Amino acid sequence: MPTPQPYYPHYDPLRDASPGTGMDYAPTYWRYHAGEPPEDDGPINTDTQADVVLIGAGFTGLATALFLAREYGIKAVVLEANQIGWGCTSRNGGQGHLAWGRLSRSQWVKKWGVDTARRLHANSLEGFEVFKSMAEDPEIDCEPQNHGNLLIAHSEHALKGLQGESRLCNEALGYKTRILDRETVLSEYIGDQECHGALLEPVGIAVQPLKLAYGYARAARRLGARIHTGSPVQAWTTEGGVHHLRTPGGTVRARVVGIATAGYTSPNLHKLTAYRNMPIMANSVWTRTLSDDEIAACGFRSTMIITDTRKLRHYYRFLPEKRLQIGTRSAISGADAQNPKHLRTVREAIARKFPALEGIETPWFSHGWMDISHDMMPRIVQPDSKQQVFYAQGYSGNGVSFSAYASKKLAALIAGEPIAESDLPIFSSPLPGHPLRPIRRLGQRALYKYFQVLDAVR
Ligand SMILES: Cc1cc2nc3c(=O)[nH]c(=O)nc-3n(C[C@H](O)[C@H](O)[C@H](O)COP(=O)(O)OP(=O)(O)OC[C@H]3O[C@@H](n4cnc5c(N)ncnc54)[C@H](O)[C@@H]3O)c2cc1C
Repeated sequence: MPTPQPYYPHYDPLRDASPGTGMDYAPTYWRYHAGEPPEDDGPINTDTQADVVLIGAGFTGLATALFLAREYGIKAVVLEANQIGWGCTSRNGGQGHLAWGRLSRSQWVKKWGVDTARRLHANSLEGFEVFKSMAEDPEIDCEPQNHGNLLIAHSEHALKGLQGESRLCNEALGYKTRILDRETVLSEYIGDQECHGALLEPVGIAVQPLKLAYGYARAARRLGARIHTGSPVQAWTTEGGVHHLRTPGGTVRARVVGIATAGYTSPNLHKLTAYRNMPIMANSVWTRTLSDDEIAACGFRSTMIITDTRKLRHYYRFLPEKRLQIGTRSAISGADAQNPKHLRTVREAIARKFPALEGIETPWFSHGWMDISHDMMPRIVQPDSKQQVFYAQGYSGNGVSFSAYASKKLAALIAGEPIAESDLPIFSSPLPGHPLRPIRRLGQRALYKYFQVLDAVR
């Protein structure tokens, strides 16, 4: 295996043509903890061809290769610019939510009415089972913790919102959630000092995300998929229905291509994905191992996945290895990614929530680019019926569990199998563009300032 190129923290999907070639992983605790990556097929080193090419070896590319091989006998070739799971897949919180995109269930009702919301909810429950069966497969070995999901209100106003959401889940969707008061959260789950109460959902699984990706990769290769790392697609032309994907070591020709590049999608990759999601940076820190006294002082009683209700939310959990993992939104551009203020923001949040950890060492700090869809809903589609090009993206920061289901459905689309509920909003249209595309980042900057004010006052 070639020696990796040094990790470049300033990569920016809106500025750089591709995310690199054979670059090392971002400095995450998951990488340290997961051990050596599984074997792969190394960089493409000659012109070659394949029935199906998948671009990107994150959860989506890897699990789609697995489903294609397992369910349809199709041995795909996966082209990955850097390493297995190099993108968001190795940098996330490992929180497997029952979340299809970023809209709340009450927003689904507002947007599409209660019948579609019920169908989407049923679809998400069915899809979550796909993730659960993969995460709990001993051969995949990703340390699943199946406890549910806690949404912590950071203010009284936010708690009222959670109460409404809980009522809607229970009454309109038949999804039995509970509202917990502050004392219950602190005495039974976690001693978050900012907590005003919480919404407890029964569904939610925490995983070690890079181990999950490594498990997908091993299983896909065992069934005949090939995973070529260090093989960025740098140019893509199509002649007579054959796609020519140029990588530094050779061109791969294929009749069918699945795009699984998420927030790392260059606008130059293909017209069908150009500017169809907004790359937004989120970060994560991991503390050193905590002492038993620190754990008691912070009231860490569960390894459940947790998010708070801020607009610029924090997501966090206490890991079985006795560390806290926590992250939030980060820089707007790649150039600003290493600005110390982003780490400071997370460390200040740790101190507010868990005063006993003020000043704690945080040996791992990393960031990644999420694929935020302009309408906050993900898509699994063939965007143009005349082209054998498919994609699953727009997960909007909730891809750990959704990617398993999305991959199963992407594999079905690629294999030519009809989708049962193709009128649901995740299948029925391509990702929308944005009318103010050239100034999206200006808007994002203004929105972050507004959110900071909102988060402080209510
Ligand atoms: C800090 C952070 C925390 C998060 N926490 C959570 C969480 O707790 N729960 C949750 O559900 N979601 C979370 N997410 C989101 C989640 O990680 C993603 O939705 C998910 O990993 C997306 O997987 P993917 O395979 O679609 O894309 P990625 O994992 O991003 O993979 C895309 C891959 O495509 C490759 N690529 C791009 N262009 C090319 C090219 N031209 N040629 C070849 N390869 C290419 C990249 O190198 C990359 O490896 C988080 C994200 C971040 C950044």
